[in-house]
Amino acid sequence: MKEFNFIINGGGCSGLSLAYEMEKKGILDKKKLAIIEVRKNYIRDKTWSFWKINDHDFNDCVIKTWNTLTISTKEKSNHICIKDQPYQSVDSGLFYKKINEKLSKNKNVRFFKNIDEVDKRNSIIFNSVPREKINKDEIWQHFKGIEIETEKNIFDDRKLILMDFNCDQKNSVHFFYVLPFSPKRALIETTWLSNLSGDSFFDYDIQLEKYIKSNLQIKTYKIKHTEVGKIPLYLTSSNNKENFINIGSVGGMTRLSTGYTFLNILEHSKFICNNLHDKKKLINYKQKNKYIFFDKIFLKVLKNHSELMPDIFLNLFQSNSDSVIKFLSNKSNFIDDIKVILNTKHKIKFLNSLTL
Ligand SMILES: Cc1cc2nc3c(=O)[nH]c(=O)nc-3n(C[C@H](O)[C@H](O)[C@H](O)COP(=O)(O)OP(=O)(O)OC[C@H]3O[C@@H](n4cnc5c(N)ncnc54)[C@H](O)[C@@H]3O)c2cc1C
Repeated sequence: MKEFNFIINGGGCSGLSLAYEMEKKGILDKKKLAIIEVRKNYIRDKTWSFWKINDHDFNDCVIKTWNTLTISTKEKSNHICIKDQPYQSVDSGLFYKKINEKLSKNKNVRFFKNIDEVDKRNSIIFNSVPREKINKDEIWQHFKGIEIETEKNIFDDRKLILMDFNCDQKNSVHFFYVLPFSPKRALIETTWLSNLSGDSFFDYDIQLEKYIKSNLQIKTYKIKHTEVGKIPLYLTSSNNKENFINIGSVGGMTRLSTGYTFLNILEHSKFICNNLHDKKKLINYKQKNKYIFFDKIFLKVLKNHSELMPDIFLNLFQSNSDSVIKFLSNKSNFIDDIKVILNTKHKIKFLNSLTL
């Protein structure tokens, strides 16, 4: 069996992002990397969106950038200018293609379907494959999105709808997310923040059709792309060891209050490549404690007072949206944190959750 200096188990977003950074830094000029990936083909399976708070290497994979976002409840809509931290969507298909093309030029990088095909004894393993059992009683962000094409110009593609709560909540948190890529094309997602028990949340197709026909008033459309997913919004145990480091979602890179993970993955990949010599740093890497702390409280309020969430989100962005975006993107300073706290409605509920 072949020996490798590094094994990346799972060549998805975080696995390929790490391989890309290793290649870019010249680490793979002399060292060997095995990537273990089960999928047969790399095709677009996700659309990764985020606020562009700093530069990244994947501008050529961006489908669209927006300078205005909308949050709506049954009563009100807020349109927020975000031109200093625009919102972007990356096409995962282009991301995979870009990285795989770069890696294919290096003979030190090889792909395998099964980890048992390689000798693991002297390698550092970076793992992005989930091992824990799914906990259905915890809170998840689960969703289905369809990219549709219309005959006529329908969408205002200058504005994305981050959250439209004008829909059935079923004692949970439910919103639609609309990314208009052009006047005739948009990705529309039905998104739930809830546990996974019970069937009542999962008639995604009916929810989407109802929203498109009733809320968006679109009668005919073609479905061009579909994506389905679930992101755990609870802390999984960190089982990093000397030569076994978790990355990506299983490495705790998901922001628990929002599900945003993509930029954290890119940052973690850079961190790993800059600190390969320091195993202790690699083992202990995690998101800042303050975000973990705030998110835990937020999720307690969400569990106990889901009916308040539309109002909380609507108001959060109303003023000081720059600070809110930095906070949600893990880039806030102390002043930003204070502004976010002051902007948050129903503070008493958050204070009570501290003691629960
Ligand atoms: C549909 C969807 C949309 C998302 N949108 C956003 C977004 O807009 N913004 C954002 O910040 N985050 C988003 N996320 C969250 C997060 O960014 C993604 O889940 C991201 O892909 C996580 O990267 P990862 O490397 O941890 O997992 P993955 O990208 O899923 O990579 C894991 C890889 O492991 C492979 N694999 C599985 N089992 C095995 C095995 N036994 N052996 C070998 N390989 C295996 C899989 O095929 C996969 O390629 C989204 C998630 C989903 C599911």
